[in-house]
Amino acid sequence: MVIPPPRNVRNVRKRLSADALHALLRAAFRMVPDYRHDGITIPLPDALMSAFAMFSLKDPSLLAFDERRHDRNLHNLYGIGRVPSDTQMREILDPLDPEQLRAVYNDVFRELQRGKVLEPLVFLEGCYLLLMDGTGYFSSQTIHCDSCLQKTSKKTGEVTYQHQLLGAVIAHPDHHEVIPLAPEPIVQQDGNTKNDCERNAGKRLLRKIRKEHPRLKLIVVEDGLASNAPHIRELKKLHMHFILGAKPGDHEFLFDQVIAAIDKDRVTTISWKVGDGEAALSFVNNVPLNEANQELLVNFFHYVETGPDGETRKVFTFVTDLRITCSNARLLVRGGRARWKIENETFNTLKNQGYHYEHNYGHGKQHLSVVFAMLMMLAFLVDQVQQRCCPLFQAVAKKLGSKRALWDNLRSHFRHFTFQSMLHLYEVILHDLAKELPAPIFNTS
Ligand SMILES: [Zn+2]
Repeated sequence: MVIPPPRNVRNVRKRLSADALHALLRAAFRMVPDYRHDGITIPLPDALMSAFAMFSLKDPSLLAFDERRHDRNLHNLYGIGRVPSDTQMREILDPLDPEQLRAVYNDVFRELQRGKVLEPLVFLEGCYLLLMDGTGYFSSQTIHCDSCLQKTSKKTGEVTYQHQLLGAVIAHPDHHEVIPLAPEPIVQQDGNTKNDCERNAGKRLLRKIRKEHPRLKLIVVEDGLASNAPHIRELKKLHMHFILGAKPGDHEFLFDQVIAAIDKDRVTTISWKVGDGEAALSFVNNVPLNEANQELLVNFFHYVETGPDGETRKVFTFVTDLRITCSNARLLVRGGRARWKIENETFNTLKNQGYHYEHNYGHGKQHLSVVFAMLMMLAFLVDQVQQRCCPLFQAVAKKLGSKRALWDNLRSHFRHFTFQSMLHLYEVILHDLAKELPAPIFNTS
């Protein structure tokens, strides 16, 4: 059944529409080298685009996606020539080096730069906040692959296999959407017997980001694990600013130096009203990070929010290389606190708003699990861009109220009618055009 094409696409930033981005992804997937040399029945870009479509449609399993294999919409909306079966998809994508997918993220990122999508996200002095955090998405005692991290229980000797991903997103405290860069898998590294960890993955990821975006001005925001001398030296080497959490237990020397600075009147404190309570912010510049690295100076700020009876509601402490002044101190606190956005607006969205982040779509023997995780994050990136730039998508999302209702509607329309483009699909949902149409004829073959 064919529904008339969209009538009004005036307000859509065309190059950032879902259709344009799907075309961009297809072009980028065509540049991914195919490790296969002969016997190719399904081209690699089709296999990659099919997996992307599965996450874009939020299908709960490979089997659910397999059921729509003969749907013309996969060709019309995602440009897929030959859709692989579930088995074919697993076989084709398992040996693929996930590193090859980084370039695809960079192509999308460049398009966002061209479309000036990122400019409103500038946080301070031309710099963007880059929020980083790791999270697990797979854990099993039976299923495993060459990339799995292995944890052996000291008590029972039982081995648990795990996968984690270190995410990095550009975000701003005043804006809801986040822009993920290519994440770094926390996986078993070649030639290493020891498990990989978030700290090593962070080092790899930041080096890659600097190489891929040599001029991008960044303020890296991380938790207290990152406020150590080797990491800070690495950040400085990469010309990245930072706002890092700092806990008294980990930084006894630093906190002693701050107390000494109070005695010398070097600490500035500002306070203001917050609702029925009060916020106090103290800062001091140029204090040594720790005893062993006294030449490594950081700027320290401590935020305390109290209620009307003086009870403590919130406490945050950060170190930064940005010079703290009375005029930027409050903004820097907001920058440090923005870190929750990677947990809440990124990983929690992937886990709880229809993306099935923790589902096992197929684990493979080599890289399948990681390839799928990278493609799911890519689907999330395209959705975030739609949410930010496409008025039609925004109108549909507003009409349906929740992300889950939005994905359910997209899937049911996709299943029952034939569309010419994503915009066409959004338009039909927005204006309830499907109701005007005769009942769909189901293809039972
Ligand atoms: Zn694995």
